[in-house]
Amino acid sequence: MQLLSVASEIYPLIKTGGLADVTGALPAALAGEGVASRTLVPGYPAVIARIGKAKVVRRYEALFGVPATVLAASVEGLDLLVLDAPDFFAREGGPYGDHAGNDWGDNWRRFAALSRVGADIAADGLKGWRPDVVHVHDWQAALTAAYMRFGPAHAVPKIVTIHNLAFQGRYGADVFGQLGLPPEAWGMDGVEYYGGVGYLKAGLVSADAITTVSPTYAEEIRSPMHGMGLDGLINGRVDRLYGILNGVDTAIWNPADDPLIPKAFSGRALAGRGANRRALEQQFGLDADDAPIFIIVSRLTWQKGMDLMVDALDHLVGLGAKLALLGSGDHPLEGAFLGAADRHRGRIGVRIGYDEPMSHLMQAGGDAILIPSRFEPCGLTQLYALRYGCLPVVARVGGLADTVIDANAAAVAAGAATGLVFAPSDPLALHGAIARTVRLHGDRPVWQAMQRAAMRADVSWGQSAARYAALYRSLLTAAA
Ligand code: ADP
Repeated sequence: MQLLSVASEIYPLIKTGGLADVTGALPAALAGEGVASRTLVPGYPAVIARIGKAKVVRRYEALFGVPATVLAASVEGLDLLVLDAPDFFAREGGPYGDHAGNDWGDNWRRFAALSRVGADIAADGLKGWRPDVVHVHDWQAALTAAYMRFGPAHAVPKIVTIHNLAFQGRYGADVFGQLGLPPEAWGMDGVEYYGGVGYLKAGLVSADAITTVSPTYAEEIRSPMHGMGLDGLINGRVDRLYGILNGVDTAIWNPADDPLIPKAFSGRALAGRGANRRALEQQFGLDADDAPIFIIVSRLTWQKGMDLMVDALDHLVGLGAKLALLGSGDHPLEGAFLGAADRHRGRIGVRIGYDEPMSHLMQAGGDAILIPSRFEPCGLTQLYALRYGCLPVVARVGGLADTVIDANAAAVAAGAATGLVFAPSDPLALHGAIARTVRLHGDRPVWQAMQRAAMRADVSWGQSAARYAALYRSLLTAAA
């Protein structure tokens, strides 16, 4: 089976969050299920720099008014199709905005162009290659499904995956006339959304199947609280909605063989963690002692509950624990964490920025990772943490609820506990979970048993890749 994926990020070429980890890891996992994937991504500078000599497989004299080519290249085992449209993508800054964090004003056009090209490839194929199924990710690629539905590729099965419903790609109604969609695409059953244009919404009404990245999030988005205005639509299509848990690339995240950490370790040889712990303390200027080290690797935003975290810092230090935080995001939150590090020298260390190698060291040397999210479609950092024996302390939402087994008495007795789970959005529950973690950490046999159980948990793509492949096959059968 030939699959075309369309996405705005892919690890290891361009990443701002979990989306890139997923689009980067899924192709190899799907290959084991007999699915050959090609992934269409924008030609950002970081992507163009990595692909080297690439073949031009499609040309546009004017794609939304600008010249563009599609390049075929293979990087680190990924079969890529790169949309090289310098007017849209050859910019300094991030994939969605400038260095200061302002979104590019023409994002509507940049990602409509990406989606248009995805649909064109679905319709015409590329030099002897044609996708059987098209799988698109998040709002940036969601219009692909609408272009397909209202164009020649309408019969090709199309799947839209929601990685985060909070980001929807909403623009003014004036954009519609420039999208090149037929007039019938306007309206409640098309791209129209509360009087404007909604890219994700358009994808969700056009797709043959909707997936999201955990079973619990698939349930949550049917409620007004988590539906972000789309719960009505999603409930109307619930017969086509699937929650398929993300996995992780277990070759890149492997504590027994990770070039990014000072000392390899395994569930059987946990002592190796000690060297990583010392390196972590040094990197973050933390006191060298036996107190538990909490880590945070996160976007610093309200979604991630980072405001609640700021308010819990004095409590954490008061319990004798330490914290190493790596992240970036809202400036007031960055300032609040830096201020706390100043107040609690040796106990709280903070790095503002994005640092992939450092995130590996933190998982390898930290004792517990704090994830107090208000909502979390899947979450990947708790999966990395499980694999590295850094116990996840998580809010009971979305994929966090699906992947961490709380250390209640029964679970501890059964040897099943892999972390701590607490009520979301509740400062007292967060305080309680931190205190509970510190107590458990003091009980070495129990803590180590939990670490081993965590490291045994299956966080690979195995089962989920099989579910995606089964979904593709069922859609192909239905379309035949
Ligand atoms: P989201 O995609 O909502 O940000 P996820 O948990 O799904 O959250 O994925 C976040 C990914 O980004 C993980 O791979 C995590 O390790 C990584 N990450 C987040 N912040 C940083 C950072 N400051 N430095 C390095 N990696 C980070």
